Amino acid sequence: MSEWDLVVVGAGPAGTATALGALHAAPTMRVLLLDRDDFPRDKTCGDGIAPHVFDALAEVGVHDLAEGWAPVHRLDLAHRTHTVNGRLRRPVWVIPRAEFDARLVRAAIEAGAVLLRQRVRQVRVGDDGVTLDNDLHAPLLVGADGAYSAVRAALGRPASITRGEALSRAAVQVWCRWVPSSLRTAWSYAAPARLGSPSRRAAAAARPAAMPVATA
Ligand SMILES: Cc1cc2nc3c(=O)[nH]c(=O)nc-3n(C[C@H](O)[C@H](O)[C@H](O)COP(=O)(O)OP(=O)(O)OC[C@H]3O[C@@H](n4cnc5c(N)ncnc54)[C@H](O)[C@@H]3O)c2cc1C
Repeated sequence: MSEWDLVVVGAGPAGTATALGALHAAPTMRVLLLDRDDFPRDKTCGDGIAPHVFDALAEVGVHDLAEGWAPVHRLDLAHRTHTVNGRLRRPVWVIPRAEFDARLVRAAIEAGAVLLRQRVRQVRVGDDGVTLDNDLHAPLLVGADGAYSAVRAALGRPASITRGEALSRAAVQVWCRWVPSSLRTAWSYAAPARLGSPSRRAAAAARPAAMPVATA
């Protein structure tokens, strides 16, 4: 049985941010990051990254995650005869998740986390903590394993997402593949940009879906 202070299941943005936050607060903590995939791995996403993500990462000592990628300063949206455009209050980034998540994982490892490739199937809660798959033990477990969380299911919690929601998100993803990347950044606003807009509805549609980087 291997012993850890914290086990995080899922090495996406939520899991790696959890590991980074824990190690920033307690650098000697033994933190294990588990993921069923090898990195780099891709993920269904519009790839837009709000500036607040970088603010949160800076707080835990990570500064160069967007290096080599150009910031997006303007928004141009068009729907039939309606157009919305303007300069963003703060720039956003569009970085493929294969690249961004791998950088996050690297940052977590540099901070001291250990990454292990393992698909978690079993979670057992005992008096002294949690045992995973009969071979990993920790007093603390964070389930950051995405929309169909195995940890959540193992703990008997209801699913966080319905099949209908998943399908509608997949439809949006198809849309994302067919529009220019400048439009895809609409997904990443955590606060509405100041838009000189003939259509308030289009502006509302451009509102936020921030990556939950600090909220595992
Ligand atoms: C179509 C679409 C477009 C989107 N566009 C944007 C956007 O432009 N900007 C934005 O900010 N957000 C966007 N999002 C939301 C964003 O993708 C998610 O909020 C984000 O990926 C959640 O991160 P996470 O770390 O919680 O989960 P994930 O990124 O899903 O990571 C979960 C990790 O857990 C691992 N895992 C799963 N099960 C197990 C298991 N049993 N054992 C071990 N590991 C496991 C997976 O391999 C994965 O690496 C979009 C979402 C969708 C669906």
